[in-house]
Amino acid sequence: ERLLSAAFREEDGELDNNLRPRRLTEFIGQEKLRESLDIFIRAALERREALDHVLLFGPPGLGKTTLAGIIANELGVNIRITSGPAIERPGDLAAVLTNLSAGDVLFIDEVHRLSRPVEEVLYPAMEDFALDIVIGKGPGARSIRLDLPRFTLIGATTRAGLLTSPLRDRFGVISRLDYYRQEDLVLIVSRAAGIFKVSLEEDGAAEIARRARGTPRVANRLLKRVRDYAQVRAGGVITGNVAVEALEFLEVDPLGLDQTDRRLLYTIIEKFNGGPVGLDTLAAATGEEPGTLEDVFEPYLLQTGLLARTPRGRVATVRAYRHLGLPVNGQAEQ
Ligand code: ADP
Repeated sequence: ERLLSAAFREEDGELDNNLRPRRLTEFIGQEKLRESLDIFIRAALERREALDHVLLFGPPGLGKTTLAGIIANELGVNIRITSGPAIERPGDLAAVLTNLSAGDVLFIDEVHRLSRPVEEVLYPAMEDFALDIVIGKGPGARSIRLDLPRFTLIGATTRAGLLTSPLRDRFGVISRLDYYRQEDLVLIVSRAAGIFKVSLEEDGAAEIARRARGTPRVANRLLKRVRDYAQVRAGGVITGNVAVEALEFLEVDPLGLDQTDRRLLYTIIEKFNGGPVGLDTLAAATGEEPGTLEDVFEPYLLQTGLLARTPRGRVATVRAYRHLGLPVNGQAEQ
C-alpha cells in the first residue's frame, strides 16, 4: 500500500468525508469544469428540471465523488452513492432506481465496471426514465414498463475510453478532471489544515503541494503524515523546513516520487540501458503486473516527463537521469 497512491484507501474514508467541500464555490481549481457545471445547475434549477446525466472522468483522487456530492447539494436533492462492481445483477439496479425520488442524483463510481446485463437496464432508465421488467420465462414471457422518476445519473470513471459507446452516448454532459496546478494544491492543503487545525506555513504548504502528484487526495494524505511528524519532532508547526524533513523521512522526493517509482526508472536505466523496453518485459523485471505498471505507476511518470512511451516501448528520459543524479551518457535530449 503506497502512501502516494491516488487510489482510495481505507484510511481515506474519514479524511475524504471531513474534507469534502459541499459547495461549488468551495471547490478549488478545475475552473472550466466548475464554470460549466455552475451554468448547467442554474439552468436546471430555473427550469425546475432534473439535470442532464453527467459523466466525470479522470485519474483517482481528483474530486469526482466530491463533485457529485456538490451537484446534488446545489440542486437541493438527495444523492444515492453506489459503484459499478457493487451492482451485481439487473435486479440490484432496479431496486436502486425504484427507490429514487424526482430530481435525485444517482452516483455510480467506476461506472465502466457495470456488467452488460446491468447496463441494458440502465439504457431505458437514462433515456426514457423507464424500467423494462420481464415477467415469466420462455414463450409466455412478456415485458412491462415501469415509469421512473426523472433523476440525474452521475457516472465516474478513470478513463472515458473504458465505457461502452451506448453508455457514453447517454450522458448529456461529459467532463474531464485534470491534475491540479501547484497553486490550487496549495489552497487545498491550506484549507485542509484549517479544518484539521494544524498550523501550516506558506512554505510548508508549497512543499507538500509540490510533492502531491497533482492530486488532492494525495495532498491531504501527505498533510496528515507531515502533521504527525511536526507534532512529534518539531513542536507542531509545519514550516517549509519541517515539511522537507518530514517528506524526506517519508521517502517522498521533491518531484513526488516514492521508492517504487524510482525503482522503476532505475530498472529501465540500468537493466535496459534507458529503454525502449516493452511493458511486459518491464513488468517481469520489476515483479509488477503489466496492468499495475500502466494504470498505477506510469501516468504520473509520463505526466512529469520522466518516462516516455514510444512505439518500441518505454524510455527513461534525460529528465529521469538528471532527477536520479545519473550521468546522461550520450542520451539524446528528448
Ligand atoms: P475521486 O472521486 O475523483 O477519487 P474524491 O472526490 O474522493 O476523488 O476526492 C478525494 C479527496 O480530495 C477528498 O477528500 C476531497 O475533499 C479532496 N478534494 C478533491 N478535489 C478537491 C477540490 N477541488 N478542492 C478541495 N478538495 C478536494
